[in-house]
Amino acid sequence: MHYDVIILGAGAAGLMCAAQAGYRGRKVLVLDHAPKAAAKIRISGGGKCNFTNLNVKPENYICANPHFVKSALARYPALQFIELVERHGIDYEQRAHGQLFTLDGAGKIIAMLRTEADWAGVELRLGCSITQVQANAQGFGLVTSQGTFSCHSLVVATGGLAYPKLKASDFGMQLAQQFGLNVITSQPGLVPLVFKYPWKDWFAELAGLSLEVEICCQGQCFREAMLVTHQGISGPVVLQISNYWQPGLPISINLFPGVEVLAQLQQFKANNQTLSKWFGQYWTKRFTQAWLQKYPFENLLANASDKALEDYAERLTNWTLYPETSAGYDKAEVSLGGVDTDEVSSKTFEAYKQPGLYFIGEVLEVTGHLGGYNFQWAWASGHACGQVV
Ligand SMILES: Cc1cc2nc3c(=O)[nH]c(=O)nc-3n(C[C@H](O)[C@H](O)[C@H](O)COP(=O)(O)OP(=O)(O)OC[C@H]3O[C@@H](n4cnc5c(N)ncnc54)[C@H](O)[C@@H]3O)c2cc1C
Repeated sequence: MHYDVIILGAGAAGLMCAAQAGYRGRKVLVLDHAPKAAAKIRISGGGKCNFTNLNVKPENYICANPHFVKSALARYPALQFIELVERHGIDYEQRAHGQLFTLDGAGKIIAMLRTEADWAGVELRLGCSITQVQANAQGFGLVTSQGTFSCHSLVVATGGLAYPKLKASDFGMQLAQQFGLNVITSQPGLVPLVFKYPWKDWFAELAGLSLEVEICCQGQCFREAMLVTHQGISGPVVLQISNYWQPGLPISINLFPGVEVLAQLQQFKANNQTLSKWFGQYWTKRFTQAWLQKYPFENLLANASDKALEDYAERLTNWTLYPETSAGYDKAEVSLGGVDTDEVSSKTFEAYKQPGLYFIGEVLEVTGHLGGYNFQWAWASGHACGQVV
């Protein structure tokens, strides 16, 4: 039961790494405690898997060391994964912001990764719990629910904490700590934001409403759709900004991105027109009413002073809110934090303190923006590691 390489986690990064190592003639075993491989891929992108993005840049990633992602991303660009997808005859489409989705479902990407692993001679064991990992003279010894195994190189690709119902676990982080590596505390990322009373009730009344807005927090801004929920706010723009938000911090929402709000309101005032008519150009009646209940203003704009109009325009373009919390790991797409990237090589992903031990994918303290960037990180880090293990 000795292997050259054992990979823990049959997700995006683990399967990519396994095939690469297998093609190099390595004897590879992949172990996963879940009954099916790559469960997160199956539900990703609303079941269509946003598998990469045409505009991948290091700036699309959050990591304490912003240079860490550069090498792997450069060596395995999105075009290389697209070439693989095309070689497997998988149809895909490009959506806004360079996002690529399958046309026939995320299962096609899983089938492709499993086929590649099969072709590369990789052995896969699912439903296998790992109870013990020890370094030994040959490399590593593992005790599992399916027997004991040993290997020369051990790759940890057990992902992050988001979506525990799909068997996400902190196993990789714990293993890193077992070998003396620093771990940066995790928190949910790409996650809806939740408010407490009275905002919660205010949003609940408007649940289902969608608006294009710009949201900023800690100097980062995103412009996309915001969706109002029963608990607060969600939608792509909220998921993006949630990666930068911390409890206690405000977010600033521009409800009219790209619109010269003050100039338009002044024009309406000069023409003796009403505020509700101005809102009616952009918003539904329901939202206008709810907004005006919360923030009443002179309806006939001619009655408003210039200063009051300025302040009102400021509120519409810089609406400051304090979310109470995030919707948590149950609703998050990723986890922020993870194994400190200072502990591993950005070229090989091998731990400096423990030769032969590697960490790839989301288990590392690398989090991508929404839009296919997290999978591209899994492919790129898995590919780089697969070349060296
Ligand atoms: C709802 C949702 C939608 C998403 N949509 C997208 C999208 O469209 N585009 C995008 O780029 N990203 C998306 N993501 C994020 C993306 O799925 C992850 O970033 C990516 O899967 C990380 O790859 P990974 O291989 O590091 O981890 P994973 O794919 O999570 O794989 C980890 C594997 O390790 C196994 N494992 C965990 N703990 C143990 C243990 N103790 N023992 C054995 N095995 C273990 C798990 O069962 C799993 O198979 C989405 C995530 C979610 C939750």
